[in-house]
Amino acid sequence: MAEEILAAGDADLVGMVRANIADPRLLPKSMADAPKTVRPCIGANVCINALLDHKTLTCMVNPELGRPLSTIDRPIGAARSALLIGAGPAGLEAARRLALRGFSTRLIEARDRVGGQMERWSQTPSRQEFLKAVRWWEDELERLGIDVALETTADVAEIMRHRPSVVMLATGSTPIVQGSADLAGTPVFGPYDVPASGGHVLVQDEIGRLSAMLTAERLAAGWRRVTLVTSAMHPGEGEGVTTAYTLLRALGRAGVEIVDRSKLVSVRDGRAVLSGVFDEARPVIEGVDAVVPLLGAVSHIPLAAELQAAGATVHRIGDAKLPRDVTAAVKDAADTVWSLDVHNSAGTPSESLSHSVAATLS
Ligand SMILES: Cc1cc2nc3c(=O)[nH]c(=O)nc-3n(C[C@H](O)[C@H](O)[C@H](O)COP(=O)(O)OP(=O)(O)OC[C@H]3O[C@@H](n4cnc5c(N)ncnc54)[C@H](O)[C@@H]3O)c2cc1C
Ligand code: SF4
Repeated sequence: MAEEILAAGDADLVGMVRANIADPRLLPKSMADAPKTVRPCIGANVCINALLDHKTLTCMVNPELGRPLSTIDRPIGAARSALLIGAGPAGLEAARRLALRGFSTRLIEARDRVGGQMERWSQTPSRQEFLKAVRWWEDELERLGIDVALETTADVAEIMRHRPSVVMLATGSTPIVQGSADLAGTPVFGPYDVPASGGHVLVQDEIGRLSAMLTAERLAAGWRRVTLVTSAMHPGEGEGVTTAYTLLRALGRAGVEIVDRSKLVSVRDGRAVLSGVFDEARPVIEGVDAVVPLLGAVSHIPLAAELQAAGATVHRIGDAKLPRDVTAAVKDAADTVWSLDVHNSAGTPSESLSHSVAATLS
Protein backbone atom coordinates (compact mmCIF):
# COMPACT_ATOMS: atom_id res chain seq x y z
CA MET A 1 0.00 0.00 0.00
CA ALA A 2 2.88 2.35 0.90
CA GLU A 3 4.44 1.74 -2.53
CA GLU A 4 1.12 2.53 -4.22
CA ILE A 5 0.74 5.81 -2.32
CA LEU A 6 4.27 6.88 -3.30
CA ALA A 7 3.84 5.76 -6.92
CA ALA A 8 0.58 7.71 -7.23
CA GLY A 9 2.38 10.82 -5.95
CA ASP A 10 -0.12 11.17 -3.10
CA ALA A 11 2.72 11.55 -0.58
CA ASP A 12 6.51 11.98 -0.51
CA LEU A 13 6.99 9.93 2.64
CA VAL A 14 5.02 7.15 4.30
CA GLY A 15 5.39 6.54 8.02
CA MET A 16 4.42 3.16 9.46
CA VAL A 17 4.07 2.49 13.18
CA ARG A 18 2.16 -0.71 13.92
CA ALA A 19 3.68 -2.44 10.89
CA ASN A 20 7.10 -1.97 12.53
CA ILE A 21 5.81 -3.33 15.84
CA ALA A 22 4.54 -6.47 14.11
CA ASP A 23 7.88 -6.88 12.32
CA PRO A 24 10.76 -4.54 13.23
CA ARG A 25 12.72 -6.03 10.31
CA LEU A 26 10.14 -4.79 7.81
CA LEU A 27 12.55 -2.43 6.04
CA PRO A 28 15.62 -4.71 5.75
CA LYS A 29 13.42 -7.61 4.61
CA SER A 30 11.65 -5.45 2.03
CA MET A 31 14.94 -4.02 0.75
CA ALA A 32 16.39 -7.53 0.52
CA ASP A 33 13.50 -8.37 -1.79
CA ALA A 34 11.89 -10.74 0.69
CA PRO A 35 8.55 -9.00 1.38
CA LYS A 36 6.76 -12.35 1.81
CA THR A 37 8.78 -12.97 4.97
CA VAL A 38 7.56 -9.74 6.60
CA ARG A 39 5.22 -10.67 9.46
CA PRO A 40 2.05 -8.70 8.67
CA CYS A 41 0.33 -6.30 11.03
CA ILE A 42 -3.28 -7.46 11.06
CA GLY A 43 -4.78 -4.48 12.88
CA ALA A 44 -5.60 -6.42 16.04
CA ASN A 45 -4.80 -3.34 18.17
CA VAL A 46 -3.60 -5.44 21.09
CA CYS A 47 -0.64 -3.00 21.08
CA ILE A 48 -2.72 0.17 21.33
CA ASN A 49 -5.11 -1.33 23.88
CA ALA A 50 -2.12 -2.28 26.07
CA LEU A 51 -0.70 1.25 25.91
CA LEU A 52 -4.09 2.84 26.65
CA ASP A 53 -4.29 0.53 29.67
CA HIS A 54 -0.79 1.63 30.83
CA LYS A 55 0.49 -1.91 30.27
CA THR A 56 3.66 -3.14 28.55
CA LEU A 57 3.55 -2.95 24.75
CA THR A 58 2.33 -6.31 23.40
CA CYS A 59 1.62 -7.52 19.87
CA MET A 60 -0.69 -10.36 18.82
CA VAL A 61 1.74 -11.74 16.23
CA ASN A 62 5.16 -10.62 17.50
CA PRO A 63 6.15 -12.37 20.75
CA GLU A 64 9.70 -10.97 20.53
CA LEU A 65 8.72 -7.54 21.90
CA GLY A 66 10.65 -6.77 25.07
CA ARG A 67 12.80 -9.93 24.88
CA PRO A 68 16.61 -9.65 24.89
CA LEU A 69 17.78 -10.49 21.36
CA SER A 70 20.26 -12.99 22.79
CA THR A 71 17.39 -15.23 23.99
CA ILE A 72 15.52 -15.37 20.67
CA ASP A 73 15.81 -18.37 18.31
CA ARG A 74 19.26 -19.44 19.52
CA PRO A 75 20.48 -22.42 17.45
CA ILE A 76 20.11 -25.70 19.32
CA GLY A 77 23.47 -26.86 17.94
CA ALA A 78 22.66 -30.57 17.56
CA ALA A 79 20.45 -32.81 15.43
CA ARG A 80 17.10 -32.81 17.23
CA SER A 81 13.54 -33.46 16.14
CA ALA A 82 10.27 -31.92 17.29
CA LEU A 83 6.68 -32.98 16.88
CA LEU A 84 3.81 -30.49 17.09
CA ILE A 85 0.20 -31.60 17.36
CA GLY A 86 -2.31 -28.97 16.25
CA ALA A 87 -1.79 -26.20 13.69
CA GLY A 88 -3.66 -23.31 15.33
CA PRO A 89 -1.77 -20.09 16.16
CA ALA A 90 0.17 -21.83 18.98
CA GLY A 91 1.26 -24.82 16.89
CA LEU A 92 2.13 -22.66 13.87
CA GLU A 93 4.26 -20.24 15.86
CA ALA A 94 5.98 -23.05 17.80
CA ALA A 95 6.71 -24.98 14.59
CA ARG A 96 8.49 -22.05 12.94
CA ARG A 97 10.39 -21.15 16.12
CA LEU A 98 11.58 -24.76 16.50
CA ALA A 99 12.65 -24.85 12.85
CA LEU A 100 14.47 -21.51 13.25
CA ARG A 101 16.37 -23.05 16.16
CA GLY A 102 17.41 -26.00 14.00
CA PHE A 103 14.93 -28.70 15.03
CA SER A 104 13.73 -31.01 12.31
CA THR A 105 10.02 -30.27 12.79
CA ARG A 106 6.84 -32.17 11.97
CA LEU A 107 3.38 -30.62 12.41
CA ILE A 108 0.25 -32.78 12.56
CA GLU A 109 -3.20 -31.22 12.03
CA ALA A 110 -6.57 -32.98 12.12
CA ARG A 111 -8.34 -30.52 9.77
CA ASP A 112 -7.68 -30.03 6.06
CA ARG A 113 -6.13 -26.61 6.68
CA VAL A 114 -4.00 -24.72 9.18
CA GLY A 115 -5.00 -21.78 11.39
CA GLY A 116 -7.12 -23.50 14.06
CA GLN A 117 -9.97 -21.43 15.49
CA MET A 118 -8.42 -18.23 14.14
CA GLU A 119 -8.96 -19.47 10.59
CA ARG A 120 -12.65 -20.03 11.45
CA TRP A 121 -13.59 -16.73 13.07
CA SER A 122 -11.46 -14.76 10.60
CA GLN A 123 -14.27 -15.47 8.11
CA THR A 124 -16.29 -12.78 9.99
CA PRO A 125 -16.53 -9.60 7.83
CA SER A 126 -14.67 -7.37 10.33
CA ARG A 127 -11.93 -9.96 10.96
CA GLN A 128 -10.82 -10.93 7.45
CA GLU A 129 -7.53 -9.05 7.81
CA PHE A 130 -6.56 -11.68 10.40
CA LEU A 131 -6.36 -14.32 7.66
CA LYS A 132 -3.16 -12.57 6.53
CA ALA A 133 -1.42 -13.90 9.64
CA VAL A 134 -2.60 -17.45 8.91
CA ARG A 135 -1.35 -17.17 5.30
CA TRP A 136 1.99 -15.82 6.55
CA TRP A 137 2.43 -18.75 8.97
CA GLU A 138 1.56 -21.09 6.09
CA ASP A 139 4.28 -19.50 3.91
CA GLU A 140 6.73 -19.80 6.79
CA LEU A 141 6.05 -23.55 7.11
CA GLU A 142 7.05 -23.95 3.48
CA ARG A 143 10.04 -21.57 3.64
CA LEU A 144 11.46 -23.35 6.68
CA GLY A 145 10.90 -26.85 5.31
CA ILE A 146 8.51 -27.97 8.05
CA ASP A 147 6.89 -31.34 7.41
CA VAL A 148 3.11 -30.72 7.61
CA ALA A 149 0.59 -33.58 7.78
CA LEU A 150 -2.99 -32.32 7.29
CA GLU A 151 -6.12 -34.43 7.89
CA THR A 152 -4.05 -36.50 10.29
CA THR A 153 -5.08 -37.27 13.84
CA ALA A 154 -2.08 -37.80 16.08
CA ASP A 155 -1.55 -41.38 17.23
CA VAL A 156 0.63 -42.09 20.29
CA ALA A 157 2.27 -45.26 18.94
CA GLU A 158 3.23 -43.48 15.71
CA ILE A 159 4.57 -40.46 17.60
CA MET A 160 6.72 -42.59 19.90
CA ARG A 161 8.04 -44.63 16.96
CA HIS A 162 9.73 -41.44 15.65
CA ARG A 163 11.19 -40.77 19.14
CA PRO A 164 11.03 -36.95 18.85
CA SER A 165 13.22 -34.95 21.27
CA VAL A 166 10.35 -32.52 21.88
CA VAL A 167 6.57 -33.08 21.78
CA MET A 168 4.23 -30.10 21.98
CA LEU A 169 0.47 -30.35 22.35
CA ALA A 170 -1.20 -27.38 20.66
CA THR A 171 -4.59 -29.02 20.34
CA GLY A 172 -6.54 -25.94 21.42
CA SER A 173 -9.84 -25.84 23.25
CA THR A 174 -13.48 -26.75 22.89
CA PRO A 175 -16.23 -24.14 23.44
CA ILE A 176 -18.56 -24.82 26.41
CA VAL A 177 -22.19 -24.83 25.26
CA GLN A 178 -23.90 -26.48 28.25
CA GLY A 179 -24.80 -23.91 30.91
CA SER A 180 -27.49 -23.47 33.55
CA ALA A 181 -30.19 -22.08 31.20
CA ASP A 182 -33.09 -24.44 30.47
CA LEU A 183 -32.93 -24.90 26.70
CA ALA A 184 -34.74 -28.25 26.43
CA GLY A 185 -36.43 -28.56 23.04
CA THR A 186 -34.52 -25.61 21.50
CA PRO A 187 -31.76 -26.26 18.92
CA VAL A 188 -28.41 -25.37 20.52
CA PHE A 189 -25.22 -24.89 18.47
CA GLY A 190 -21.58 -24.15 19.17
CA PRO A 191 -19.99 -21.10 17.47
CA TYR A 192 -18.41 -23.23 14.76
CA ASP A 193 -21.26 -25.64 13.95
CA VAL A 194 -24.17 -23.18 13.80
CA PRO A 195 -25.80 -23.10 10.33
CA ALA A 196 -24.98 -20.00 8.25
CA SER A 197 -28.63 -19.02 7.83
CA GLY A 198 -32.00 -19.40 9.51
CA GLY A 199 -34.75 -17.50 11.32
CA HIS A 200 -34.10 -15.88 14.72
CA VAL A 201 -30.92 -16.87 16.56
CA LEU A 202 -30.06 -15.83 20.11
CA VAL A 203 -26.35 -15.57 20.93
CA GLN A 204 -25.88 -16.03 24.69
CA ASP A 205 -22.70 -14.37 26.01
CA GLU A 206 -21.54 -15.04 29.55
CA ILE A 207 -17.88 -14.07 29.16
CA GLY A 208 -17.98 -10.57 27.66
CA ARG A 209 -15.16 -11.20 25.21
CA LEU A 210 -14.89 -11.12 21.43
CA SER A 211 -16.23 -14.59 20.70
CA ALA A 212 -19.91 -13.65 21.09
CA MET A 213 -19.51 -10.41 19.13
CA LEU A 214 -17.80 -12.13 16.21
CA THR A 215 -20.34 -14.96 16.22
CA ALA A 216 -23.27 -12.51 16.19
CA GLU A 217 -21.69 -10.43 13.42
CA ARG A 218 -21.07 -13.50 11.26
CA LEU A 219 -24.61 -14.85 11.76
CA ALA A 220 -26.16 -11.48 10.90
CA ALA A 221 -25.09 -12.10 7.29
CA GLY A 222 -27.43 -15.10 6.97
CA TRP A 223 -30.01 -15.22 9.79
CA ARG A 224 -33.18 -13.12 9.57
CA ARG A 225 -32.78 -11.81 13.12
CA VAL A 226 -29.85 -11.97 15.57
CA THR A 227 -30.18 -11.09 19.26
CA LEU A 228 -27.04 -10.91 21.41
CA VAL A 229 -27.78 -11.30 25.12
CA THR A 230 -24.77 -10.52 27.30
CA SER A 231 -24.29 -10.67 31.06
CA ALA A 232 -21.58 -7.98 30.73
CA MET A 233 -22.16 -4.22 30.89
CA HIS A 234 -21.82 -4.31 27.11
CA PRO A 235 -20.56 -6.90 24.59
CA GLY A 236 -16.75 -7.00 24.58
CA GLU A 237 -16.54 -5.40 28.03
CA GLY A 238 -13.34 -7.31 28.86
CA GLU A 239 -11.60 -6.17 25.66
CA GLY A 240 -9.58 -3.05 24.90
CA VAL A 241 -11.67 -0.06 23.88
CA THR A 242 -10.32 0.29 20.34
CA THR A 243 -11.36 -3.31 19.63
CA ALA A 244 -14.67 -3.43 21.51
CA TYR A 245 -15.98 -0.10 20.21
CA THR A 246 -15.12 -0.94 16.59
CA LEU A 247 -16.95 -4.24 16.87
CA LEU A 248 -19.94 -2.63 18.60
CA ARG A 249 -20.25 -0.37 15.55
CA ALA A 250 -20.01 -3.41 13.24
CA LEU A 251 -22.80 -5.12 15.21
CA GLY A 252 -24.95 -1.99 15.01
CA ARG A 253 -24.46 -1.76 11.25
CA ALA A 254 -25.21 -5.47 10.83
CA GLY A 255 -28.55 -5.00 12.63
CA VAL A 256 -27.72 -7.18 15.67
CA GLU A 257 -30.06 -6.43 18.59
CA ILE A 258 -28.12 -6.18 21.87
CA VAL A 259 -29.55 -6.87 25.33
CA ASP A 260 -26.90 -6.17 27.96
CA ARG A 261 -26.61 -6.93 31.71
CA SER A 262 -28.87 -9.95 31.23
CA LYS A 263 -28.71 -13.69 31.78
CA LEU A 264 -30.63 -16.24 29.78
CA VAL A 265 -32.89 -18.28 32.09
CA SER A 266 -34.79 -20.47 29.62
CA VAL A 267 -36.12 -20.80 26.10
CA ARG A 268 -39.43 -22.66 25.74
CA ASP A 269 -41.58 -22.69 22.59
CA GLY A 270 -39.47 -19.86 21.18
CA ARG A 271 -39.96 -17.60 24.26
CA ALA A 272 -36.65 -16.55 25.83
CA VAL A 273 -36.90 -15.56 29.51
CA LEU A 274 -34.08 -13.33 30.82
CA SER A 275 -33.09 -11.98 34.22
CA GLY A 276 -31.23 -8.69 34.77
CA VAL A 277 -27.83 -9.18 36.44
CA PHE A 278 -28.74 -6.36 38.86
CA ASP A 279 -32.23 -7.84 39.33
CA GLU A 280 -33.76 -5.48 36.75
CA ALA A 281 -36.86 -6.69 34.91
CA ARG A 282 -36.22 -7.87 31.37
CA PRO A 283 -38.85 -8.35 28.62
CA VAL A 284 -39.44 -11.82 27.13
CA ILE A 285 -37.88 -12.23 23.67
CA GLU A 286 -40.28 -13.96 21.30
CA GLY A 287 -39.74 -16.16 18.27
CA VAL A 288 -36.31 -17.62 19.09
CA ASP A 289 -35.45 -20.54 16.78
CA ALA A 290 -31.96 -21.43 18.03
CA VAL A 291 -29.41 -20.54 20.72
CA VAL A 292 -25.61 -20.25 20.42
CA PRO A 293 -24.16 -20.18 23.96
CA LEU A 294 -20.68 -18.64 24.44
CA LEU A 295 -19.85 -19.73 27.97
CA GLY A 296 -16.06 -20.09 27.79
CA ALA A 297 -13.91 -23.03 26.72
CA VAL A 298 -12.07 -26.04 28.13
CA SER A 299 -8.63 -27.23 27.04
CA HIS A 300 -8.71 -30.05 24.50
CA ILE A 301 -5.88 -32.40 25.49
CA PRO A 302 -6.71 -35.77 23.96
CA LEU A 303 -3.23 -37.32 24.11
CA ALA A 304 -1.49 -35.79 27.15
CA ALA A 305 -1.98 -38.71 29.56
CA GLU A 306 -1.19 -41.38 26.95
CA LEU A 307 1.97 -39.60 25.80
CA GLN A 308 3.18 -39.15 29.36
CA ALA A 309 2.46 -42.82 30.11
CA ALA A 310 4.54 -43.70 27.02
CA GLY A 311 7.48 -41.75 28.49
CA ALA A 312 7.30 -38.51 26.47
CA THR A 313 7.82 -35.09 28.04
CA VAL A 314 4.88 -33.10 26.76
CA HIS A 315 4.67 -29.31 26.59
CA ARG A 316 1.14 -27.90 26.46
CA ILE A 317 0.91 -24.54 24.70
CA GLY A 318 -1.87 -22.13 23.76
CA ASP A 319 -5.46 -23.02 24.61
CA ALA A 320 -4.36 -26.62 25.31
CA LYS A 321 -2.56 -25.18 28.35
CA LEU A 322 -5.29 -22.68 29.28
CA PRO A 323 -7.99 -21.27 26.97
CA ARG A 324 -7.26 -17.58 26.37
CA ASP A 325 -6.62 -15.78 23.08
CA VAL A 326 -4.26 -15.65 20.11
CA THR A 327 -1.79 -13.26 21.76
CA ALA A 328 -1.38 -15.66 24.69
CA ALA A 329 -1.18 -18.71 22.40
CA VAL A 330 1.60 -17.16 20.29
CA LYS A 331 3.50 -16.01 23.38
CA ASP A 332 3.22 -19.46 25.00
CA ALA A 333 4.58 -21.04 21.84
CA ALA A 334 7.61 -18.77 21.57
CA ASP A 335 8.38 -18.77 25.32
CA THR A 336 8.23 -22.58 25.43
CA VAL A 337 10.56 -22.99 22.45
CA TRP A 338 12.98 -20.36 23.77
CA SER A 339 12.92 -21.94 27.25
CA LEU A 340 14.55 -25.02 25.74
CA ASP A 341 17.74 -22.88 25.94
CA VAL A 342 18.24 -23.58 29.62
CA HIS A 343 16.81 -27.07 29.52
CA ASN A 344 17.83 -30.21 27.77
CA SER A 345 16.08 -31.18 24.54
CA ALA A 346 13.23 -32.89 26.38
CA GLY A 347 12.50 -29.67 28.23
CA THR A 348 13.34 -31.03 31.67
CA PRO A 349 16.14 -29.46 33.72
CA SER A 350 19.45 -30.99 32.68
CA GLU A 351 21.43 -32.98 35.21
CA SER A 352 24.17 -30.37 35.42
CA LEU A 353 21.59 -27.61 35.89
CA SER A 354 19.89 -29.56 38.72
CA HIS A 355 23.26 -30.08 40.35
CA SER A 356 24.19 -26.42 40.11
CA VAL A 357 20.83 -25.39 41.60
CA ALA A 358 21.30 -27.92 44.43
CA ALA A 359 24.84 -26.63 45.03
CA THR A 360 23.59 -23.04 45.24
CA LEU A 361 20.84 -24.03 47.69
CA SER A 362 23.24 -25.88 49.93
C1 LIG B 1 -15.97 -17.60 18.30
C2 LIG B 1 -14.59 -17.28 18.83
C3 LIG B 1 -14.00 -16.07 18.47
C4 LIG B 1 -12.72 -15.75 18.96
N1 LIG B 1 -12.18 -14.55 18.63
C5 LIG B 1 -10.94 -14.22 19.06
C6 LIG B 1 -10.35 -12.96 18.72
O1 LIG B 1 -10.96 -12.12 18.06
N2 LIG B 1 -9.09 -12.71 19.16
C7 LIG B 1 -8.39 -13.62 19.90
O2 LIG B 1 -7.23 -13.35 20.25
N3 LIG B 1 -8.91 -14.81 20.24
C8 LIG B 1 -10.18 -15.14 19.84
N4 LIG B 1 -10.71 -16.36 20.19
C9 LIG B 1 -9.87 -17.33 20.94
C10 LIG B 1 -8.80 -17.94 19.99
O3 LIG B 1 -9.40 -18.45 18.82
C11 LIG B 1 -8.02 -19.07 20.67
O4 LIG B 1 -7.53 -18.61 21.93
C12 LIG B 1 -6.81 -19.49 19.80
O5 LIG B 1 -7.24 -19.93 18.52
C13 LIG B 1 -6.01 -20.60 20.49
O6 LIG B 1 -5.02 -21.05 19.60
P1 LIG B 1 -4.43 -22.55 19.73
O7 LIG B 1 -3.44 -22.69 18.64
O8 LIG B 1 -3.99 -22.77 21.12
O9 LIG B 1 -5.67 -23.52 19.50
P2 LIG B 1 -6.72 -23.70 18.30
O10 LIG B 1 -6.86 -22.45 17.53
O11 LIG B 1 -7.94 -24.27 18.94
O12 LIG B 1 -6.04 -24.79 17.35
C14 LIG B 1 -5.91 -26.13 17.75
C15 LIG B 1 -5.69 -26.99 16.51
O13 LIG B 1 -5.39 -28.33 16.92
C16 LIG B 1 -6.05 -29.24 16.04
N5 LIG B 1 -6.21 -30.53 16.75
C17 LIG B 1 -6.97 -30.78 17.85
N6 LIG B 1 -6.83 -32.08 18.23
C18 LIG B 1 -5.97 -32.66 17.35
C19 LIG B 1 -5.43 -33.99 17.22
N7 LIG B 1 -5.74 -34.97 18.09
N8 LIG B 1 -4.56 -34.24 16.20
C20 LIG B 1 -4.23 -33.25 15.32
N9 LIG B 1 -4.73 -31.97 15.39
C21 LIG B 1 -5.58 -31.68 16.41
C22 LIG B 1 -7.37 -28.54 15.74
O14 LIG B 1 -7.95 -29.04 14.55
C23 LIG B 1 -6.91 -27.08 15.61
O15 LIG B 1 -6.55 -26.75 14.28
C24 LIG B 1 -12.02 -16.68 19.78
C25 LIG B 1 -12.63 -17.89 20.16
C26 LIG B 1 -13.91 -18.18 19.70
C27 LIG B 1 -14.57 -19.47 20.15
S1 SF4 C 1 -1.03 -5.91 18.00
FE1 SF4 C 1 -2.09 -6.02 16.04
S2 SF4 C 1 -2.24 -3.87 15.37
FE2 SF4 C 1 -0.67 -3.93 16.95
S3 SF4 C 1 1.24 -4.22 15.79
FE3 SF4 C 1 0.54 -6.25 16.43
S4 SF4 C 1 -0.63 -7.01 14.66
FE4 SF4 C 1 -0.42 -4.76 14.39
